[in-house]
Amino acid sequence: MPATAVEPDGLAAVEAAILRACRDARRERSSVTLVAVSKTFDADAIAPLIAAGQRVFGENRVQEAQRKWPALMAAHPGIALHLIGPLQSNKAKEAVALFDAIHSVDRPSICEALRKEIERQDRQPDLFVQINTGEEPQKAGVAPSEADDFIARCRDTYGLTIAGLMCIPPMDDAPAPHFALTAKIARRNGLTQLSMGMSADFSIAIALGATHVRVGSAIFGTR
Ligand SMILES: *Cc1c(COP(=O)(O)O)cnc(C)c1O
Repeated sequence: MPATAVEPDGLAAVEAAILRACRDARRERSSVTLVAVSKTFDADAIAPLIAAGQRVFGENRVQEAQRKWPALMAAHPGIALHLIGPLQSNKAKEAVALFDAIHSVDRPSICEALRKEIERQDRQPDLFVQINTGEEPQKAGVAPSEADDFIARCRDTYGLTIAGLMCIPPMDDAPAPHFALTAKIARRNGLTQLSMGMSADFSIAIALGATHVRVGSAIFGTR
């Protein structure tokens, strides 16, 4: 399948690369969900992807998603929207109403806010606990050493069903050890879903077990 670095059709190139990574890892293509990260891009840029069959999209801001997506979702049934950016407790109501998955659960106040809204709205988005694998102070997420306790607290104290884990490796690090660490924490906590891998490293993430790759610029172009 022709797919080069200058492939103008970003989605097709990413699809081809995902397929290759799945073959190399002896995994089914269906075991990896492509989350097309559409942050900063408007409906005009998103519409062709929907027309090409893409159905899962990621946004990092609740308000931006609220502006862009209700109309698109009304026009195109079957779209799933994932929140991949930080969530504030005071946006939990809007987030539970709009998103089918939230990849950034990382503190008790968010757990409490989500618990309340999941109950009130009777909606159950898939929840991912974000792990700050590089222990970067400026980055969201739970420290690896605190992950087991936090996951247990999500379940026992807040009654949340956790689907899996998410990580964003530090910019300047090789990503593989961060993906491997996230996969290891997931395994020992009985979690099967792994949100990891972006434009630069999704093939590596698939080799290390990613079930959700969050790909923006390789599909949409530079932001
Ligand atoms: C923007 C973003 C992505 C996509 O990044 P690209 O490098 O453009 O693929 C993935 N995950 C998160 C959390 C993001 O904020």
